Amino acid sequence: MKKQDSTNAIRIRAEKTQYNEHTTPMYLTSSFTFDNVEDMRSAFAGETDINIYSRFVNPNYSELIDKMCALEGTEAGFATATGMAAVHASIVSIVGNGDHIVACRSVFGSTHTMLTNILPRFGITYTYVNVNATEAEWEAAIQENTKMIFLETPTNPGVGIVDLEMIGRIGKKHKVLTNVDNCFATPFVQKPTDFGIDIITHSATKYIDGQGRVMGGVILGPVDYIEEVYTYCRSTGPAISPFNAWTLSKSLETLEVRMDKHCKNALKLATALESHPEILNVKYPFLLSHPQYDIAQNQMKNGGGIVTFEVKGGIERGREFLNNISLCSLSANLGDTRTIVTHPASTTHSKLTDEERTEVGITPGLIRVSAGLESIIDILNDIEKALEASK
Ligand SMILES: *Cc1c(COP(=O)(O)O)cnc(C)c1O
Repeated sequence: MKKQDSTNAIRIRAEKTQYNEHTTPMYLTSSFTFDNVEDMRSAFAGETDINIYSRFVNPNYSELIDKMCALEGTEAGFATATGMAAVHASIVSIVGNGDHIVACRSVFGSTHTMLTNILPRFGITYTYVNVNATEAEWEAAIQENTKMIFLETPTNPGVGIVDLEMIGRIGKKHKVLTNVDNCFATPFVQKPTDFGIDIITHSATKYIDGQGRVMGGVILGPVDYIEEVYTYCRSTGPAISPFNAWTLSKSLETLEVRMDKHCKNALKLATALESHPEILNVKYPFLLSHPQYDIAQNQMKNGGGIVTFEVKGGIERGREFLNNISLCSLSANLGDTRTIVTHPASTTHSKLTDEERTEVGITPGLIRVSAGLESIIDILNDIEKALEASK
Protein backbone atom coordinates (compact mmCIF):
# COMPACT_ATOMS: atom_id res chain seq x y z
CA MET A 1 0.00 0.00 0.00
CA LYS A 2 1.22 3.49 -0.83
CA LYS A 3 2.33 5.20 2.39
CA GLN A 4 0.72 8.36 3.74
CA ASP A 5 2.41 11.77 3.54
CA SER A 6 2.99 11.94 7.32
CA THR A 7 4.91 8.68 7.11
CA ASN A 8 6.83 9.53 3.93
CA ALA A 9 8.05 12.85 5.36
CA ILE A 10 9.62 10.89 8.22
CA ARG A 11 10.49 7.46 6.89
CA ILE A 12 11.90 8.02 3.39
CA ARG A 13 15.64 8.02 3.87
CA ALA A 14 19.06 7.55 2.29
CA GLU A 15 20.41 4.01 2.50
CA LYS A 16 21.88 3.13 5.91
CA THR A 17 25.64 2.76 6.17
CA GLN A 18 27.39 -0.21 7.84
CA TYR A 19 26.91 1.60 11.20
CA ASN A 20 23.11 1.24 11.14
CA GLU A 21 22.58 4.84 12.23
CA HIS A 22 18.97 5.81 12.99
CA THR A 23 19.33 9.31 11.54
CA THR A 24 20.86 9.85 8.10
CA PRO A 25 24.40 11.23 8.53
CA MET A 26 25.54 14.42 6.83
CA TYR A 27 27.59 13.62 3.76
CA LEU A 28 29.92 16.60 3.93
CA THR A 29 32.04 15.54 1.02
CA SER A 30 32.65 17.33 -2.25
CA SER A 31 33.30 14.15 -4.21
CA PHE A 32 32.94 10.37 -4.13
CA THR A 33 35.41 7.64 -5.04
CA PHE A 34 35.20 4.74 -7.47
CA ASP A 35 36.49 1.18 -7.07
CA ASN A 36 37.74 1.00 -10.63
CA VAL A 37 37.90 2.80 -13.92
CA GLU A 38 34.86 1.00 -15.35
CA ASP A 39 32.62 2.13 -12.44
CA MET A 40 33.85 5.65 -13.03
CA ARG A 41 33.28 5.49 -16.78
CA SER A 42 29.73 4.17 -16.44
CA ALA A 43 28.86 6.77 -13.76
CA PHE A 44 30.06 9.62 -15.99
CA ALA A 45 28.24 8.12 -18.96
CA GLY A 46 25.02 8.32 -16.92
CA GLU A 47 24.53 4.55 -17.08
CA THR A 48 24.39 4.25 -13.27
CA ASP A 49 23.24 6.66 -10.58
CA ILE A 50 26.39 6.34 -8.45
CA ASN A 51 27.29 9.57 -6.61
CA ILE A 52 30.00 11.50 -8.43
CA TYR A 53 30.44 15.06 -7.22
CA SER A 54 28.36 17.21 -4.85
CA ARG A 55 27.78 19.96 -7.40
CA PHE A 56 25.02 17.74 -8.71
CA VAL A 57 24.52 14.63 -6.57
CA ASN A 58 24.88 13.69 -2.90
CA PRO A 59 22.92 11.30 -0.62
CA ASN A 60 21.58 14.23 1.43
CA TYR A 61 20.19 15.92 -1.70
CA SER A 62 18.65 12.65 -2.86
CA GLU A 63 16.88 12.11 0.45
CA LEU A 64 15.42 15.63 0.43
CA ILE A 65 14.31 15.26 -3.20
CA ASP A 66 12.80 11.80 -2.66
CA LYS A 67 10.72 13.09 0.26
CA MET A 68 9.58 16.17 -1.68
CA CYS A 69 8.61 14.04 -4.71
CA ALA A 70 6.51 11.78 -2.47
CA LEU A 71 4.81 14.77 -0.83
CA GLU A 72 4.14 16.74 -4.02
CA GLY A 73 3.29 13.73 -6.18
CA THR A 74 6.01 14.30 -8.78
CA GLU A 75 8.35 11.88 -10.56
CA ALA A 76 11.66 13.66 -10.06
CA GLY A 77 13.37 16.71 -8.63
CA PHE A 78 16.49 18.79 -8.10
CA ALA A 79 17.53 20.73 -4.97
CA THR A 80 19.14 24.18 -5.13
CA ALA A 81 20.96 26.60 -2.82
CA THR A 82 18.03 29.03 -2.51
CA GLY A 83 14.43 29.40 -3.56
CA MET A 84 15.46 31.94 -6.20
CA ALA A 85 17.97 29.48 -7.69
CA ALA A 86 15.05 27.05 -7.97
CA VAL A 87 12.71 29.58 -9.58
CA HIS A 88 15.47 30.64 -12.00
CA ALA A 89 16.56 27.13 -12.99
CA SER A 90 12.95 25.93 -13.23
CA ILE A 91 12.45 28.48 -16.00
CA VAL A 92 15.74 28.80 -17.88
CA SER A 93 16.35 25.05 -18.06
CA ILE A 94 13.73 24.85 -20.79
CA VAL A 95 12.89 28.43 -21.77
CA GLY A 96 15.27 30.31 -24.06
CA ASN A 97 15.82 33.09 -26.55
CA GLY A 98 12.60 33.87 -28.43
CA ASP A 99 10.35 32.15 -25.88
CA HIS A 100 7.59 33.74 -23.83
CA ILE A 101 6.25 33.24 -20.31
CA VAL A 102 2.80 34.02 -18.97
CA ALA A 103 3.01 34.90 -15.28
CA CYS A 104 0.76 36.13 -12.54
CA ARG A 105 1.54 39.78 -11.77
CA SER A 106 1.58 39.09 -8.03
CA VAL A 107 4.86 37.23 -7.66
CA PHE A 108 7.72 37.36 -5.17
CA GLY A 109 9.88 40.52 -5.56
CA SER A 110 12.99 38.80 -6.92
CA THR A 111 10.89 36.70 -9.30
CA HIS A 112 9.40 39.96 -10.60
CA THR A 113 12.92 41.42 -11.11
CA MET A 114 13.99 38.25 -12.92
CA LEU A 115 10.98 38.25 -15.26
CA THR A 116 11.02 41.98 -16.00
CA ASN A 117 14.76 42.87 -15.95
CA ILE A 118 16.96 39.81 -16.23
CA LEU A 119 15.28 37.30 -18.55
CA PRO A 120 14.49 39.92 -21.25
CA ARG A 121 18.28 40.39 -21.63
CA PHE A 122 18.37 36.77 -22.85
CA GLY A 123 15.46 37.23 -25.26
CA ILE A 124 12.78 35.80 -22.95
CA THR A 125 9.63 37.92 -22.87
CA TYR A 126 6.66 37.79 -20.51
CA THR A 127 3.04 38.85 -20.15
CA TYR A 128 1.56 39.54 -16.73
CA VAL A 129 -1.98 38.53 -15.80
CA ASN A 130 -3.79 39.81 -12.72
CA VAL A 131 -4.25 37.49 -9.76
CA ASN A 132 -8.05 37.46 -10.11
CA ALA A 133 -8.08 37.25 -13.93
CA THR A 134 -10.71 35.12 -15.67
CA GLU A 135 -9.93 32.00 -17.68
CA ALA A 136 -10.41 34.00 -20.89
CA GLU A 137 -7.89 36.61 -19.71
CA TRP A 138 -5.29 33.96 -18.91
CA GLU A 139 -5.85 32.31 -22.29
CA ALA A 140 -5.63 35.63 -24.11
CA ALA A 141 -2.11 36.13 -22.70
CA ILE A 142 -0.83 32.92 -24.31
CA GLN A 143 1.13 33.39 -27.53
CA GLU A 144 2.55 31.06 -30.21
CA ASN A 145 5.92 31.08 -28.42
CA THR A 146 4.62 30.68 -24.84
CA LYS A 147 6.58 27.94 -23.09
CA MET A 148 5.44 28.28 -19.50
CA ILE A 149 2.79 29.63 -17.14
CA PHE A 150 4.30 30.68 -13.81
CA LEU A 151 2.49 31.68 -10.63
CA GLU A 152 2.31 31.56 -6.85
CA THR A 153 -0.78 30.83 -4.80
CA PRO A 154 -1.34 32.16 -2.18
CA THR A 155 0.63 35.13 -3.47
CA ASN A 156 3.31 37.00 -1.54
CA PRO A 157 2.51 39.38 0.13
CA GLY A 158 -1.12 39.90 -0.95
CA VAL A 159 -2.41 36.35 -0.19
CA GLY A 160 -4.33 36.35 -3.47
CA ILE A 161 -5.50 32.94 -4.72
CA VAL A 162 -5.20 31.59 -8.28
CA ASP A 163 -7.44 28.71 -9.35
CA LEU A 164 -5.05 25.78 -9.90
CA GLU A 165 -7.67 23.63 -11.62
CA MET A 166 -8.20 26.40 -14.19
CA ILE A 167 -4.44 26.84 -14.74
CA GLY A 168 -3.94 23.09 -15.09
CA ARG A 169 -6.71 23.00 -17.70
CA ILE A 170 -5.28 25.94 -19.67
CA GLY A 171 -1.80 24.39 -19.62
CA LYS A 172 -3.08 21.09 -21.04
CA LYS A 173 -5.27 22.79 -23.65
CA HIS A 174 -2.46 25.00 -24.98
CA LYS A 175 0.35 22.48 -24.37
CA VAL A 176 2.20 24.91 -22.13
CA LEU A 177 4.05 23.75 -19.00
CA THR A 178 2.57 25.05 -15.76
CA ASN A 179 4.93 25.97 -12.91
CA VAL A 180 3.65 26.79 -9.42
CA ASP A 181 5.76 28.25 -6.60
CA ASN A 182 4.15 26.36 -3.68
CA CYS A 183 6.20 28.09 -1.00
CA PHE A 184 3.30 29.69 0.91
CA ALA A 185 1.18 26.56 1.13
CA THR A 186 3.62 23.60 1.29
CA PRO A 187 2.35 20.16 0.20
CA PHE A 188 0.61 19.70 3.56
CA VAL A 189 -1.79 22.53 2.68
CA GLN A 190 -2.04 22.27 -1.12
CA LYS A 191 -0.86 19.85 -3.78
CA PRO A 192 -0.79 21.55 -7.19
CA THR A 193 -0.27 18.23 -9.02
CA ASP A 194 -3.79 17.18 -7.89
CA PHE A 195 -5.04 19.94 -10.20
CA GLY A 196 -2.90 19.02 -13.20
CA ILE A 197 0.06 21.35 -12.53
CA ASP A 198 3.32 20.06 -14.09
CA ILE A 199 6.13 21.73 -12.14
CA ILE A 200 6.39 22.71 -8.47
CA THR A 201 9.07 25.07 -7.18
CA HIS A 202 9.82 25.80 -3.54
CA SER A 203 11.78 28.17 -1.44
CA ALA A 204 12.62 25.61 1.26
CA THR A 205 14.01 28.54 3.28
CA LYS A 206 10.51 29.37 4.48
CA TYR A 207 8.13 26.76 5.98
CA ILE A 208 10.19 23.71 5.02
CA ASP A 209 13.11 24.83 7.19
CA GLY A 210 10.56 26.56 9.36
CA GLN A 211 13.05 27.71 11.95
CA GLY A 212 14.84 30.55 10.17
CA ARG A 213 18.15 28.67 9.83
CA VAL A 214 19.14 27.53 6.35
CA MET A 215 18.34 28.42 2.75
CA GLY A 216 17.35 26.04 0.02
CA GLY A 217 15.10 25.45 -2.96
CA VAL A 218 13.53 22.51 -4.76
CA ILE A 219 12.31 21.98 -8.34
CA LEU A 220 9.92 19.07 -8.91
CA GLY A 221 8.27 17.69 -12.04
CA PRO A 222 8.14 14.98 -14.71
CA VAL A 223 11.33 12.96 -15.38
CA ASP A 224 11.99 14.38 -18.85
CA TYR A 225 11.68 17.95 -17.58
CA ILE A 226 13.90 17.32 -14.53
CA GLU A 227 16.54 15.85 -16.87
CA GLU A 228 16.76 19.27 -18.50
CA VAL A 229 16.95 20.94 -15.07
CA TYR A 230 19.69 18.51 -14.04
CA THR A 231 21.70 19.16 -17.21
CA TYR A 232 21.41 22.91 -16.71
CA CYS A 233 22.26 22.84 -13.00
CA ARG A 234 25.05 20.27 -13.28
CA SER A 235 26.99 22.67 -15.47
CA THR A 236 25.99 25.98 -13.94
CA GLY A 237 26.29 25.08 -10.24
CA PRO A 238 23.33 26.36 -8.17
CA ALA A 239 23.43 23.23 -5.95
CA ILE A 240 22.37 23.13 -2.31
CA SER A 241 25.00 22.28 0.32
CA PRO A 242 24.84 18.81 1.93
CA PHE A 243 24.47 20.47 5.35
CA ASN A 244 21.43 22.47 4.23
CA ALA A 245 19.89 19.46 2.48
CA TRP A 246 20.31 17.40 5.65
CA THR A 247 18.73 20.14 7.78
CA LEU A 248 15.78 20.53 5.39
CA SER A 249 15.17 16.79 5.20
CA LYS A 250 15.04 16.67 9.03
CA SER A 251 12.69 19.68 8.98
CA LEU A 252 10.26 17.83 6.70
CA GLU A 253 9.69 15.35 9.55
CA THR A 254 7.88 18.07 11.52
CA LEU A 255 6.39 20.09 8.65
CA GLU A 256 2.87 18.70 8.97
CA VAL A 257 2.48 19.42 12.70
CA ARG A 258 4.10 22.84 12.27
CA MET A 259 1.80 23.78 9.37
CA ASP A 260 -1.24 22.75 11.38
CA LYS A 261 -0.33 25.14 14.19
CA HIS A 262 0.82 27.97 11.86
CA CYS A 263 -2.56 27.76 10.15
CA LYS A 264 -4.57 27.53 13.39
CA ASN A 265 -2.79 30.61 14.76
CA ALA A 266 -3.25 32.48 11.48
CA LEU A 267 -6.99 31.75 11.37
CA LYS A 268 -7.44 32.85 14.99
CA LEU A 269 -5.47 36.02 14.31
CA ALA A 270 -7.43 36.80 11.13
CA THR A 271 -10.76 36.21 12.87
CA ALA A 272 -9.86 38.34 15.89
CA LEU A 273 -8.51 41.25 13.80
CA GLU A 274 -11.51 41.35 11.44
CA SER A 275 -13.58 43.23 14.00
CA HIS A 276 -10.78 45.50 15.28
CA PRO A 277 -11.71 49.23 15.00
CA GLU A 278 -8.19 50.29 13.87
CA ILE A 279 -8.18 47.83 10.96
CA LEU A 280 -9.86 48.52 7.62
CA ASN A 281 -9.84 44.95 6.34
CA VAL A 282 -8.20 41.58 6.88
CA LYS A 283 -7.21 39.18 4.11
CA TYR A 284 -6.90 35.46 4.77
CA PRO A 285 -7.82 32.68 2.31
CA PHE A 286 -10.16 30.91 4.77
CA LEU A 287 -12.10 34.03 5.81
CA LEU A 288 -15.49 34.30 4.07
CA SER A 289 -14.57 37.88 3.13
CA HIS A 290 -11.61 36.71 0.96
CA PRO A 291 -12.49 37.43 -2.69
CA GLN A 292 -11.38 33.93 -3.77
CA TYR A 293 -12.71 32.08 -0.70
CA ASP A 294 -14.44 29.35 -2.76
CA ILE A 295 -11.30 28.59 -4.78
CA ALA A 296 -9.23 28.48 -1.60
CA GLN A 297 -11.72 26.02 -0.07
CA ASN A 298 -11.45 23.83 -3.16
CA GLN A 299 -7.67 23.64 -3.39
CA MET A 300 -6.32 24.21 0.14
CA LYS A 301 -6.66 22.04 3.26
CA ASN A 302 -6.54 25.17 5.41
CA GLY A 303 -5.82 28.86 4.91
CA GLY A 304 -2.02 28.80 5.37
CA GLY A 305 0.10 30.73 7.85
CA ILE A 306 0.04 34.24 6.37
CA VAL A 307 -2.48 36.96 7.19
CA THR A 308 -2.51 40.51 5.86
CA PHE A 309 -4.45 43.51 7.08
CA GLU A 310 -4.81 47.17 6.24
CA VAL A 311 -4.25 49.45 9.20
CA LYS A 312 -6.03 52.82 9.25
CA GLY A 313 -3.72 55.78 8.55
CA GLY A 314 -1.61 54.63 5.55
CA ILE A 315 2.19 54.50 5.27
CA GLU A 316 3.00 56.51 8.43
CA ARG A 317 0.64 54.48 10.60
CA GLY A 318 2.11 51.27 9.15
CA ARG A 319 5.62 52.42 10.15
CA GLU A 320 4.44 53.48 13.61
CA PHE A 321 2.66 50.16 14.08
CA LEU A 322 5.89 48.25 13.40
CA ASN A 323 7.83 50.52 15.76
CA ASN A 324 5.47 49.54 18.57
CA ILE A 325 5.73 45.78 18.02
CA SER A 326 7.73 44.11 20.79
CA LEU A 327 7.26 40.31 20.79
CA CYS A 328 6.92 39.68 17.05
CA SER A 329 10.01 40.06 14.85
CA LEU A 330 10.62 42.68 12.18
CA SER A 331 12.30 40.50 9.58
CA ALA A 332 12.24 39.75 5.86
CA ASN A 333 11.73 36.02 6.37
CA LEU A 334 8.46 34.14 6.80
CA GLY A 335 7.37 30.67 7.82
CA ASP A 336 9.47 30.80 10.98
CA THR A 337 8.51 29.47 14.44
CA ARG A 338 8.62 33.15 15.47
CA THR A 339 5.84 35.46 14.31
CA ILE A 340 7.13 38.00 11.78
CA VAL A 341 5.47 41.30 10.95
CA THR A 342 6.35 43.37 7.88
CA HIS A 343 5.16 46.58 6.22
CA PRO A 344 5.76 46.00 2.47
CA ALA A 345 5.07 49.60 1.33
CA SER A 346 8.00 51.03 3.34
CA THR A 347 10.38 48.05 3.00
CA THR A 348 10.31 45.16 0.48
CA HIS A 349 8.21 47.08 -2.05
CA SER A 350 9.38 50.65 -1.33
CA LYS A 351 11.07 50.93 -4.76
CA LEU A 352 7.79 50.45 -6.59
CA THR A 353 5.61 53.43 -7.47
CA ASP A 354 2.25 53.80 -5.70
CA GLU A 355 0.60 52.65 -8.92
CA GLU A 356 2.75 49.52 -9.24
CA ARG A 357 2.07 48.67 -5.59
CA THR A 358 -1.67 49.05 -6.05
CA GLU A 359 -1.54 46.76 -9.09
CA VAL A 360 -0.17 43.93 -6.95
CA GLY A 361 -2.49 44.67 -4.03
CA ILE A 362 -0.01 46.43 -1.73
CA THR A 363 -1.88 49.28 -0.11
CA PRO A 364 -0.05 51.93 2.01
CA GLY A 365 -1.12 50.51 5.37
CA LEU A 366 -0.78 46.83 4.45
CA ILE A 367 0.77 44.69 7.19
CA ARG A 368 1.84 41.10 6.51
CA VAL A 369 1.94 38.71 9.44
CA SER A 370 3.61 35.32 9.23
CA ALA A 371 1.94 33.60 12.17
CA GLY A 372 4.51 31.73 14.24
CA LEU A 373 4.13 28.90 16.68
CA GLU A 374 4.02 30.99 19.88
CA SER A 375 0.82 31.14 21.92
CA ILE A 376 -1.86 33.01 19.96
CA ILE A 377 -2.67 34.90 23.19
CA ASP A 378 0.77 36.55 23.18
CA ILE A 379 0.82 37.18 19.42
CA LEU A 380 -2.60 38.87 19.52
CA ASN A 381 -1.70 40.86 22.60
CA ASP A 382 1.45 42.22 20.93
CA ILE A 383 -0.41 43.21 17.76
CA GLU A 384 -3.32 44.80 19.63
CA LYS A 385 -0.94 46.79 21.84
CA ALA A 386 0.95 48.09 18.79
CA LEU A 387 -2.34 49.07 17.11
CA GLU A 388 -3.33 51.03 20.22
CA ALA A 389 0.10 52.69 20.68
CA SER A 390 0.34 53.77 17.00
CA LYS A 391 -3.05 55.57 16.96
C1 LIG B 1 11.21 33.76 -0.28
C2 LIG B 1 10.51 33.37 -1.51
C3 LIG B 1 11.23 33.00 -2.65
C4 LIG B 1 12.73 33.04 -2.71
O1 LIG B 1 13.32 32.12 -1.85
P1 LIG B 1 14.80 32.30 -1.26
O2 LIG B 1 15.01 30.99 -0.57
O3 LIG B 1 14.76 33.47 -0.36
O4 LIG B 1 15.72 32.50 -2.41
C5 LIG B 1 10.51 32.61 -3.77
N1 LIG B 1 9.16 32.59 -3.76
C6 LIG B 1 8.44 32.94 -2.68
C7 LIG B 1 6.96 32.90 -2.74
C8 LIG B 1 9.08 33.34 -1.52
O5 LIG B 1 8.37 33.73 -0.45
